[in-house]
Amino acid sequence: MPNTTVQLDTSYNYFESLFNNAVENNILLMDNNGIIIAINDAFTECFGYNSEDILGKHARTIFTPEDRDRGKPEDEISKVLNNGQSSDDNYLLTKAKGYVWVKGESTLVKNSDGDVRILKVIQNIHKQKKSEVSIHQLNQFNENILSAIEDVVIVLDMNMHILKTNRAFHSLFSNNERIVQILNFAQVIKPYDVFDEITRNIQSAINNKKGFSNIPIEIETSSGEKRVFDVSCSPFEFVNDENNVLIVIHDITVHKQLAREREDVIGFVAHELRNPLANLVLCNDLMGEFLKESNPEEINDLLQRSKNNVSRLNKMIAELYDATRINSGNLKLEVSAFKLKDMVMEAIDTVKVLQPSYNIVVKGEGDILVKGDRYRLIQVVTNYLSNGIKYSNGKTDVVLEMKTENEMIVSVKDNGLGISAEQLPYIFDRFFRAEKTKNLEGIGLGLYLCRQIIQAHNGRAWAESEEGKGSIFYFSIPL
Ligand code: ADP
Repeated sequence: MPNTTVQLDTSYNYFESLFNNAVENNILLMDNNGIIIAINDAFTECFGYNSEDILGKHARTIFTPEDRDRGKPEDEISKVLNNGQSSDDNYLLTKAKGYVWVKGESTLVKNSDGDVRILKVIQNIHKQKKSEVSIHQLNQFNENILSAIEDVVIVLDMNMHILKTNRAFHSLFSNNERIVQILNFAQVIKPYDVFDEITRNIQSAINNKKGFSNIPIEIETSSGEKRVFDVSCSPFEFVNDENNVLIVIHDITVHKQLAREREDVIGFVAHELRNPLANLVLCNDLMGEFLKESNPEEINDLLQRSKNNVSRLNKMIAELYDATRINSGNLKLEVSAFKLKDMVMEAIDTVKVLQPSYNIVVKGEGDILVKGDRYRLIQVVTNYLSNGIKYSNGKTDVVLEMKTENEMIVSVKDNGLGISAEQLPYIFDRFFRAEKTKNLEGIGLGLYLCRQIIQAHNGRAWAESEEGKGSIFYFSIPL
C-alpha cells in the first residue's frame, strides 16, 4: 500500500476541533508519566469524571483494580513512549466504579514547546461487547440443546450441502467412514436405499419452500440394528436470506414396538376369551334343547361345563386385571406375619377342591414365621401347584417342599411335560407359553404375576426343568 501523507492546513487546529466536538471519542491527554492533563466532554459524559475529579491524577485511576494489579497502566505508557503507539481492549472504571468495556488507542504527540504528551482516544464498546457475549452465550446454549437432542438434526442449504448436524447425526451415520469428508447429504445417505424417496422429497421441499413431516423409514444403524424413524423437513430462511432446510429424524422404534405389542396383546386376549365364551353359548343352546326333552342328566352335565367355562373366564380376567395393575407399579403388599405351613396348606386346600384326584405330597418343616402378603403368596403357591397339575401329562404326583436356610424356599415338583432348555428362560415372561402346551388352556400370565409378587417380597422365583421328565418351580423369600 503506498504511503500517502495528507497535507493538513496548519492554520487550523484539527486536534482542538476533535477534542471539543467529539461525541463518540472520549479523549484523555497525559504527560509522559501518565498524569492526566486534560479530558474532553465526551470523556466526562462516558465515565462520569469531570476535570476536578481527575486532572493531576495518574491514568491508573481509570483502570480496574485487576488491571492495576497486573501493571497494565504502566505497561501501556511505556509501550507508547517506546513505540509511539499502543492499542488496548479492556475494561475501564467509571467514577461510580462501574466497568465499561472500551477500545482505546494511545499515541505520542508533542506540544508547541516540544513537550511529549500521550493522547488516548477511547471508544465505549460496552453495548457491542455485551451483545457479542449474549450472542456467544446464545450460540452456546443452542449448541448444547442441539447436542442434547436425541433426534438427528441436520441443516442443509439449497444444494443439499450439510451446514449443521448434531451429535445424534454422527451416531446414526458414523458407520459411513467417508462422512467426515462428505458435505453433501445425498451422498451421506446414498448407502441407504430408503432415503431415495426422502431425498426427492427434500429436493421438492427446497424448490417449493414447503416442508413435510413424519415420513417413516427403516434403516440399519451403525451397530447393525434395524430401527424405524420418522423424517420431517421444514424450509426456513436464514439471516443471510439464504433458503435452508431443517431435517429432523426421530427414532420411533420403541413406539412402533409398543403399538405392535399392544395389538398383539389385544388380539391374543380376544382370541383366548372367545373359546370359553363360545363354549358357554354352546352349553346354553344345548341346555335349551335338553330342557325341551326333559333330560336332567345332560342338563346337569352342561351346567357343570358352563360353570367350568365361567371359572376359566373369571381366572383369565382376574389375571389380566392383576397384570395391568402390577405393570403400572401398583402392587401394594398387605404384610402380616403367619406360619409358612399354614399359608401353604391353605393353597393346597384350594387346589385340592378343584383337582381331588391329584396327590399333593408335602415335605419339610414349615413352622417358621414369615412376614409377607399372605393372600399374594397363596396365589403363587396355588399357581405353581395348578401348573404342576395342568402340565402333568397325567402323572398325578406333585411334591411341595419347604426349606429354611438363610431364606425360606418353597418348591413344587411335578413329573409332567417339562420345558425345553431353549424355552425355560422365558417362562416367567408376560404371555409366554411353551410351544408344546399351547393346546392347554391358559394365557401365560400366571408365572409372570408370581415373579412380580415374589420380587415385591425381595425374593426370587425360578425353575428347573427337563423336557418330557418334569419341572421344579421355586421361590425364595429372605427371612
Ligand atoms: P398359563 O399356564 O396360563 O399358560 P403361566 O404363566 O402359569 O401361564 O405359565 C407359562 C407357561 O409356562 C405355560 O404356558 C407353560 O408352557 C409353561 N409351564 C408353566 N408351568 C409348567 C409346568 N409345571 N410344566 C411345564 N410347563 C409349564
